[in-house]
Amino acid sequence: MVVTVDAGVSLRDLINKVEGAALSLVAAPYWEGVTVGGLISTGAHGSSWWGKGGAVHDHVVGVSLVVPGKESEGFAKVLWLEGNDPLFKAAKVSLGVLGVISKVKLSLEPAFKRSITYDFTKDDDIEQMYVNHAKKFEFGDITWYPSKYTAVYRYDNRVHFNTSGDGINDFLGFQSQSVLVSMATQSTEKTFENSKDEKGKCAMATTFMAYKKSIANGLKNNKLFFTNYPVIGTQANIQASGSCLYSFPLRLDLTCGWDPTINGLSFYETTAIFPTTKFGDFVRDVKKLRDLITPQKLCGMDIYNGFLIRYIKASDAYLGQHEDSVVVDFNYYRGDDPKVPRLNQDILEEIEQIAFFKYGAKPHWAKNRKLAFLGVPKKFLNWNKFVEVKKQVDPRGMFSSEWSDEILYGENKENGDGCALEGLCICSQDRHCSPSKGYFCKPGFLYSNARVCRFSHAEILSSNLDLGVIS
Ligand SMILES: Cc1cc2nc3c(=O)[nH]c(=O)nc-3n(C[C@H](O)[C@H](O)[C@H](O)COP(=O)(O)OP(=O)(O)OC[C@H]3O[C@@H](n4cnc5c(N)ncnc54)[C@H](O)[C@@H]3O)c2cc1C
Repeated sequence: MVVTVDAGVSLRDLINKVEGAALSLVAAPYWEGVTVGGLISTGAHGSSWWGKGGAVHDHVVGVSLVVPGKESEGFAKVLWLEGNDPLFKAAKVSLGVLGVISKVKLSLEPAFKRSITYDFTKDDDIEQMYVNHAKKFEFGDITWYPSKYTAVYRYDNRVHFNTSGDGINDFLGFQSQSVLVSMATQSTEKTFENSKDEKGKCAMATTFMAYKKSIANGLKNNKLFFTNYPVIGTQANIQASGSCLYSFPLRLDLTCGWDPTINGLSFYETTAIFPTTKFGDFVRDVKKLRDLITPQKLCGMDIYNGFLIRYIKASDAYLGQHEDSVVVDFNYYRGDDPKVPRLNQDILEEIEQIAFFKYGAKPHWAKNRKLAFLGVPKKFLNWNKFVEVKKQVDPRGMFSSEWSDEILYGENKENGDGCALEGLCICSQDRHCSPSKGYFCKPGFLYSNARVCRFSHAEILSSNLDLGVIS
């Protein structure tokens, strides 16, 4: 009931091989375009509090790690790590900074199927429901569209392999898109940004959400279309997807939506990992903020996926989660010019700071803007143990980078003009925002400790008067 795989093998190849032997890998991220080494190194996860939980590294039972060695050892040595070895606990989620993982041994279970239904409903009770939802559904998650007052509960449990159903999860966001449509979508959003058109963004969010509902986010009963719930399919066909990966080079007009080689979608992804007990308060705060501002100001994130809420179980990995946790992803527009502020960026910055600093959420290692990593060492109980192992296996920092040194040992020193616009810093002065474009550093509406870049028409007039731009 285990598989040993080279670290560079793709998740899809691993899943297919394992299912070919009538076994299933229980946890995986939702996107299949990753490697085994890359996904465990950054703590990648799906969603589950059951069994070993939703994070893949908690299904790892051994790794081989190539670390620097003495000359007599040929300058490198290969360590096989497993069990209670502190090096194993450090290596499971190690950001590439300990050495090169060459093989990964993962635990498996007999092959199974899953049965999924998406329930589009009101968002009234998320803060009461999220714990029971995870307990009731092995692979449950929740998508929350705050501007639409809508929650989508994923009812998702395993069923016996003999249950009839040959469905697949071809998640819409990972389906191939026409290059032209991807470019047009980004350009439409850019137009709404430039004209500060909240209504336009809200109309876009309404259309996308209705479409997702009509096609069940990409679930297909018979591999071709969605016809009805529940959709039942094998674990291999349900957990991870990424059909856009295979459209190229067959169709040059198709691509993954975010392909950087075309002028298509470009967005940030913030991912905050909360201790379970604090997540309900975060939801309450976002709802209070929504009441203070207008819900329209949250339409930007609903164009993407709103808040995707998932579950990870407590882990013994030093850089994993030491307690059962709730993970929230939200995506939002990123322009092509880092100096141009974004529409309602103050609201998204406030939510980001509520998550990471009011409730002490931890960042997902593979996502987020830089500010999310501020103060990270204090958030991990076993941080010092990880740093000790790093010193032991890589004393000369051969596997360190500027980024890892800053996170492991240093402080964020960014304070250049406009640094808050791309999340490189939290603003403390107006120049960290964009005073010339009317964005000034202000406290949050709800979380007064937050410091965000907010547009102020009155202040841009007075600052232009001061500068003699308007006389
Ligand atoms: C579209 C999309 C959807 C995603 N969905 C999810 C999701 O559902 N859940 C989730 O948790 N994450 C998700 N992610 C994040 C993803 O899981 C991580 O970015 C993952 O690290 C990517 O793996 P990779 O093989 O591309 O890694 P890379 O980008 O190649 O590497 C990531 C890190 O791992 C290190 N690394 C890679 N290989 C090794 C090795 N052999 N030895 C030592 N270190 C190594 C690298 O040094 C680097 O620090 C998603 C990402 C994308 C782009």
